[in-house]
Amino acid sequence: MNILGIETSCDETSAAVLQEGRIRSNVISSQLVHARFGGVVPELASREHERLIVMIVEEALQEANIQKNDLDIIAATAGPGLIGAVMVGLSFAQGLAYALQKPLVPVNHIEAHIFSAFIEDPEGTPPPQGPFISLTVSGGHTLLCLVRQDLSYTVLGRTIDDAAGEAFDKTGKMLGLDYPAGPHIDRLAATGNPAFHDFPRALTSHSKTSRSFKGNLDFSFSGLKTSVRNYLSNHSEEFIQEHLHDIAASIQEAIISVLVEKAVYAALRNNVASISIAGGVSANRGLRERMEAACRHYGIELHVPRTIYSTDNAAMIATMAQLRISRGVTELNNYDVAPFAAFRTQGTSR
Ligand code: ATP
Ligand code: MG
Ligand code: FE
Repeated sequence: MNILGIETSCDETSAAVLQEGRIRSNVISSQLVHARFGGVVPELASREHERLIVMIVEEALQEANIQKNDLDIIAATAGPGLIGAVMVGLSFAQGLAYALQKPLVPVNHIEAHIFSAFIEDPEGTPPPQGPFISLTVSGGHTLLCLVRQDLSYTVLGRTIDDAAGEAFDKTGKMLGLDYPAGPHIDRLAATGNPAFHDFPRALTSHSKTSRSFKGNLDFSFSGLKTSVRNYLSNHSEEFIQEHLHDIAASIQEAIISVLVEKAVYAALRNNVASISIAGGVSANRGLRERMEAACRHYGIELHVPRTIYSTDNAAMIATMAQLRISRGVTELNNYDVAPFAAFRTQGTSR
């Protein structure tokens, strides 16, 4: 079975071919036009997808060495994301599927992140066998889910304000770092002291306010943002530049310690053997190291996709379509699909 996956939910235009369960190509073009605006400009994102989509799909087919007539399934992100951006990839997929008279499988982008441990990867760890905890941390979402092999899942916690990726990007912007700031903070933090300053960790055992942990698996990062802003305005520019690595490491520490604490707590409380981390923030080296150490300590198996599969990519879209088909939870031959902007917690991908 040959599946073409298409992803255009935000600022990556991507197409991938999954052939007999093997990822044959995964072409990703990250839009650079947004950098000077300090964030993704929706209108520009749609235009860039429109400009690139044909080329990227052709490149993915070429790299996989197959013709479009050899495709059996066309899969595309139907949401959540920037609605105009989603529409470009989804409409393209609808047109292509209709022209080829092949089924179209709409994919929920966040579910594709949640199940990214299932992306075929000779260099990666095999997918979890039983139920697992998924921590999906991206630019727009922070979700902790209990996931089952039948593709159903229960949302255990989510952010009540900013997403983890947003916390990286917004605090990084205050430090004068380019968008997206997550990778820059990651790089600076590698040689900084994470204990340099104690930034707040809301809704955890470290929380100093009444909104403390008590088993609460929701996340909150807006207090961290305010705290970083105050900290920076209370220190001179020279001091900040001199301690840039330490400040970045301390901000990163505040974000990742919360993520690790809650994911591990969720695994222990639900008695599951594995944790899978996904989404752009799971590329963070500090998070990977800390999560690895915590999982080793508690005897939990950790699944981390390779960086290329952590951030937005079409291989995860094709994989999600294959999972849904193989587990019999998708309707085929349905071109009548509407794009959507927000994540709906239906609690199941069925
Ligand atoms: P969503 O999936 O919620 O729709 P998105 O698709 O924009 O949002 P991703 O592409 O999965 O999100 O992730 C992008 C986010 O990941 C950005 O916020 C970016 O700063 C963050 N990120 C990427 N690499 C790293 C890193 N090494 N350390 C920390 N954050 C990172
Ligand atoms: Mg992105
Ligand atoms: Fe994403």
